[in-house]
Amino acid sequence: MAHRSARSGARWVSLACILVLPTVILPAKAADSGSGPPLQPVVASLPTPGQPRPAEPEPAPLSLRVLTVERGDTLTQLLAGAGIETAQAEPALDALTSLFPARSLQPGQALTLRLDTEDGDALLGLDLEAAPGRVIHVSRTATGWTAKEKQAEQYRHLVLAQGKVRGALVTSLEAAGLPASLAARLVRLLAHEVDFQRDLQPTDRFTVLFERFRDADGTLLRDGDIVHAELLLSDRHLSLWRYETEAGVDWYDDEGRSLRRAFLRTPLDGARLSSGFGMRQHPILGFTRMHHGVDFAAPTGTPVYAAADGIVEQIGTRGGYGRTVMLRHNGRTETLYAHLSAYARGLKRGSRVRQGQVIGRVGTSGRSTGPHLHYEIRQAGKPVNPSTATPKAMVKLQGRDLVAFLNARNALQTQLAHLAPMEEVAWAE
Ligand SMILES: [Zn+2]
Repeated sequence: MAHRSARSGARWVSLACILVLPTVILPAKAADSGSGPPLQPVVASLPTPGQPRPAEPEPAPLSLRVLTVERGDTLTQLLAGAGIETAQAEPALDALTSLFPARSLQPGQALTLRLDTEDGDALLGLDLEAAPGRVIHVSRTATGWTAKEKQAEQYRHLVLAQGKVRGALVTSLEAAGLPASLAARLVRLLAHEVDFQRDLQPTDRFTVLFERFRDADGTLLRDGDIVHAELLLSDRHLSLWRYETEAGVDWYDDEGRSLRRAFLRTPLDGARLSSGFGMRQHPILGFTRMHHGVDFAAPTGTPVYAAADGIVEQIGTRGGYGRTVMLRHNGRTETLYAHLSAYARGLKRGSRVRQGQVIGRVGTSGRSTGPHLHYEIRQAGKPVNPSTATPKAMVKLQGRDLVAFLNARNALQTQLAHLAPMEEVAWAE
């Protein structure tokens, strides 16, 4: 992953100047793959007012007409409006819609018609940019109409988004420039690591490195994924890296420990920590006693997840705990989930569960004042505080994978130190 542009410190800012090309590249020009007859050099007859032209090739008997899609337009209407006969338009559109569903047409899209000037402007072909960088070429051939698509060469860039947590994390991430879909993805990922209600403070900072894919001209084709996320909390530093091995894509901490295999901090979604670990006045019994777990307030029926891969050690009603599931994990660690309203169907003592698998539903069974999950982690039989205890992740990258991961991480960290917020750098995989 370490490569030339990183070491030379080449920035997107400077690349932009180099990449401005002297000619207008039309979609049709790129359509040179496949087995069909070669396409006409359409650049030749396109007038580009106010721009000096390079040496002109021999003009082809071809003219181009660009139609811009407006709200409510259909492909059939567009071609009819351009004076294309139905007998030509129909087979051309049939070919087009084999690769591009007609309902996907969006206002602002451009449909380019290739017309034969020596044959009464008969339709030779259509070009439509279906998505950024993905152009569909429809052409008339000796044997009928064919459609081909061409994806522009994509270049990977990395962008830095940085900021402070002000209000909700997701809006803070978006305000820092992270695309909304990536911000939502990151919040989901972090939800199992961070208790947003308790852990996040207005002074907390985040750093996110994410991908953008551009074509050779620098035009944005699409956003990619998050590569790295860092949260500087008042009492904790969280650093995550997305990394791909032969086993697939996963998230790792700085040392290459898989996040997926670490214990979920919050074994349910959208819950509020309502009571912490330690001495407290018991809400029902009145006297002070030790609270051996944490309570998450959530509506009855909210799914409860296994905090890590494990085996069901106990399942059933257990005094004040009510309906309870206890899981055994890596020999020394157990997790306990109490006051459930229901167990997952088919779950029984000895069942294997995967991290994130639903094991039951929030309820208020046993000695409980309202719907909540009482969650405990026990190590070597002793309850530990789930909010601060970080049972060791079970899977760490090994051998060559670990070396490659650390190299990639180091290269990115070095680059990060030189990036300004929303600055972009070209970065190959
Ligand atoms: Zn409790």
